[in-house]
Amino acid sequence: MGNFTAYRPAWMRFFFSPSQRLLGVFLVFILLPGLFLGVFSLRILRQEEQLVRQRAKENLERIAQEIGFRLQSEFKSWEEIISLAAESESPPAEYQPEVFRQALEETGGGVFLYHVEGGFDSFPYGALLYRFGRHGILQPPAIQPTPEIEKAESLEIKQKDYPNAILAYRKLLESATAEQRAELLNRLARTLRKAGRLDEASDVYRELQELKTAWIGVLPADFIGRFELCDLAVESDKMTELADLSLELYGDLVRGKWLLDKSYYSYYSECCRSWCRESQVQEAEFNPIQMKEERKLALTQAAEEFMAEPRRILFGGKETYLCFWQTDPSAALLVSEDFLGSQWWPQIVSEQGKELESVLYNSDGHVLFGSESSEASPLAVVQDIMIDNLPWRIQIWPANPEVVQKEVRQRKSLFIAVLAFIGVLLIFGSYITVRIVKRELEISRMRADFVSTVSHEFRSPLTGIRHLGEMLLDNRVTDRTKQRGYYKMIVQESDRLTRLVENILDFSRMEEGRKEFRFRPLRTFAWLRELVKDFKAEIAAEGIDIVAGIPEDLPQISADKEALGSAVHNLLDNAVKYSPGEKTVWITVERKEGEIKIAVRDKGVGISEQDRKYIFDRFYRAKAEISKRVKGAGLGLSLVRYIVEAHSGRVECESRPGEGSTFSIHIPVEPGAEGGVDE
Ligand code: ADP
Repeated sequence: MGNFTAYRPAWMRFFFSPSQRLLGVFLVFILLPGLFLGVFSLRILRQEEQLVRQRAKENLERIAQEIGFRLQSEFKSWEEIISLAAESESPPAEYQPEVFRQALEETGGGVFLYHVEGGFDSFPYGALLYRFGRHGILQPPAIQPTPEIEKAESLEIKQKDYPNAILAYRKLLESATAEQRAELLNRLARTLRKAGRLDEASDVYRELQELKTAWIGVLPADFIGRFELCDLAVESDKMTELADLSLELYGDLVRGKWLLDKSYYSYYSECCRSWCRESQVQEAEFNPIQMKEERKLALTQAAEEFMAEPRRILFGGKETYLCFWQTDPSAALLVSEDFLGSQWWPQIVSEQGKELESVLYNSDGHVLFGSESSEASPLAVVQDIMIDNLPWRIQIWPANPEVVQKEVRQRKSLFIAVLAFIGVLLIFGSYITVRIVKRELEISRMRADFVSTVSHEFRSPLTGIRHLGEMLLDNRVTDRTKQRGYYKMIVQESDRLTRLVENILDFSRMEEGRKEFRFRPLRTFAWLRELVKDFKAEIAAEGIDIVAGIPEDLPQISADKEALGSAVHNLLDNAVKYSPGEKTVWITVERKEGEIKIAVRDKGVGISEQDRKYIFDRFYRAKAEISKRVKGAGLGLSLVRYIVEAHSGRVECESRPGEGSTFSIHIPVEPGAEGGVDE
């Protein structure tokens, strides 16, 4: 049977090489999980986005529900107040909620109608423009004319004897009762007008105007007085006077000073308006009154409509009113939807959530409060609520949906940032791992080289010693000087072996951190002189000269003589080893500030820049061809550095390939010793 060697095809060998294995491990344990994590995270991110939207929507739904509840409870509380007011037959002045008060204070904002004996009344007084149905306080019954009054009237109307009629009226006025006074003044002024005595008539109307509580037929006396004064101003063509009088009368009429019947109101207010226009009243004064009239008219018409047929929503021409009522005893509240929509509804909505747009539809789909959005927001939510057993609908959506978008974006960026961070960490971690593993692989390779190199290093001195020993033993060398030469060679070879063993032992101690240094004061000059002398002897056979420049006045240093000696020895040894064909190696010592510098220079092969980075690493040997031929284990310089650093010093290397190298050791000098001269 022949030798069996496991054969692997090329592709398999590729996968079994250490760096490919490393790549495989990296792929399987770092890159793939990393990719998986990335994809997984992106999916989560998408879900997260949906979740944020969903949450925003749920939140809105909750708010819409709250608004619904609030609306129902507000309506309910208003109805309760109305029923309380209805029972007490009085306006809800004291217990009205703030929103009522505000609504009723505003012109055309709202009115409260409540039941009174024989009809109903409105609150606040003057909220409505005119009287309708059995509304308002009835005027006292008209007074019956006495025979004297009838006589005076006959003088005025039938006989057209105005002077006598005037006299008769004046006479009657002297003894008239309070009720008769208004009637008589009116007739007197009328007769005076007929008689062309306009100024006198005007005075009488002014007197009439002062009678605040009297009635003439169905109209208040003071109103008639003022109305007739206007009429008189037209008759006498006094336009400035007419302007003042008619504007004031119109203002009072609209303000609700007198509650006239509908038809009277229409007639008299029309007269006032046309007088105002005729006398060219300032628009700035006239327009506000007219606007007020329009708003009140809308409310009054709505109230009239409501009394004819009560319902929740009254769509007026210009305004819509929301009604709350109670029957038997009856009371009702009409509030302008405009008012609620601008004052009350926004408040209800904003109480539940800031920055919301909203709209409230009644069961017919009519927009009561808020305004519909031109485009449907994707976040809009709808909530149905029951009002009068009919479904009303609230729709709300965020005023600026960017807030939600922003949250989504923020989360997204955070997520991506974390992912990116993990990614960078992964890449960085992988890079470091690969570097370390590669370095370790390299070291293990170098260690393997080391074993074979060391074996070689041992073998040649051992072979030499053995060879020389055998020759001497067999008495093959008889010449005494030759014999001495051989003995010397045996000693030198054993020294080399000893140093090699020392180096290896030192290295292993250094690796384990067990190496101990014994620091003692060292006479630098003597020590170095001795060292150079020994080294020269060692290499005498190689024909290389060591040129030493060591000044005598060197300060003492504190050092481990053996260790530092072996460091310098290693440098000298290297200088000789890597200078093939060269005859000289230099060692110079310099005193520098606070330290001494021991420099070993050669003109040998030099070291490339690339190699210079690593030569102090353990097991490292330069890639140059010469290193392969020269024996060495790649331990020398790492030991030098270790020893020098233990002496708080440093080692430096300057070199140019092909021109030679200089290694220098810098050892600090103790402050006290610096001045002291060695020997
Ligand atoms: P080695 O046993 O290989 O000499 P060292 O640690 O002493 O190990 O040196 C490391 C490497 O540095 C050597 O392999 C050699 O390539 C390079 N080197 C050291 N000293 C010199 C020098 N004086 N000239 C050129 N190369 C040198």
